[in-house]
Amino acid sequence: MKSLVLEKYNEFTLRETEIPDIKPGWVLIKVEACGICGSDVHGMDGSTGRRQPPVIMGHEASGVIHETAPDVWGWMKGDRVTFDSTISCGQCFFCQREEVNLCENRRVLGVSCNEYRQNGAFAEFIAVPAHILYKIPENISFEQAAMVEAVSIAVHATSISSVKKNDTAVVIGCGMIGLLCIQALKAAGCARVIAVDQVDEKLEIAQELGADLTFRSTDPELIQQILNETESRGADITFEVVGIELTVNLAINCTRKGGTVTLIGNLTPEVRIPLQKVVTRQLKLQGSCASAGEYPLCLEMIASGTIKVDRMISKVAPLEEGNEWFQRLYNKEAGLMKVILKP
Ligand SMILES: [Zn+2]
Ligand SMILES: [Zn+2]
Repeated sequence: MKSLVLEKYNEFTLRETEIPDIKPGWVLIKVEACGICGSDVHGMDGSTGRRQPPVIMGHEASGVIHETAPDVWGWMKGDRVTFDSTISCGQCFFCQREEVNLCENRRVLGVSCNEYRQNGAFAEFIAVPAHILYKIPENISFEQAAMVEAVSIAVHATSISSVKKNDTAVVIGCGMIGLLCIQALKAAGCARVIAVDQVDEKLEIAQELGADLTFRSTDPELIQQILNETESRGADITFEVVGIELTVNLAINCTRKGGTVTLIGNLTPEVRIPLQKVVTRQLKLQGSCASAGEYPLCLEMIASGTIKVDRMISKVAPLEEGNEWFQRLYNKEAGLMKVILKP
């Protein structure tokens, strides 16, 4: 089969590889669409240690079942499907609590690190266990279905943040995940969502997708502006979708006493935080990682248009152009959000 292989750091080749075997309980999927994730782009130069060549990346995919192992029930050749980006074990402490994102034995598709190597979906075929499959609603395209992983990150962050009707939320960082968070928060009932970013164009898209107010992060009056909008209290919930010291501190400073700060971005591994402010204002600081069982809900939200993903798809290109698109994303071409490759 045709595969896009990271042959050496920063170098992809399209070449023939073996069609993967299907183990008991697994299915073989003919890939129709696979999105390039930020983690793939960060990993391609070796800096994260999680894309050790040779590896076929790709964990945001959709396709059609081509073959099932004899012991697989409930799935048939021809079913249109998407699947979790992570293979969970189903056995460990966390899997038993349905916290599959925290699985002790998780293997992310398209990742090769010191602990494991698991080829992904930038190829004609991929094999995955049937327990991570989800049916795609008929009115969703394969490209839209490949966005479900990104959507699930936003929906999971929202579902662990106990949103209440009439809450005011602030979303700091309006990249793709931030834009999805804005929509997920609105869908969960937030009365107002305030979007913050340093780039005007992103704030315009944020407004288009439902943000009620937008502020530039460089505005020296930013915190005062947010206080003005919240009867001087601060936001009930703040999503930090960047992951640097400045924006984590901003998130803490614009949240009301007793409010929740949900941390999604993690660009830098460590930041300093104003501990006393967190303690004396009784803030809840929580991380949010991937998703845990939100895919069916997310697929419904995409199907009904509650969450719009088309605006984030910058380009759909053939797998043959994979190397070029990886390089363009690596070079941080302005305005590029999700690039989806089709084998
Ligand atoms: Zn991803
Ligand atoms: Zn597990």
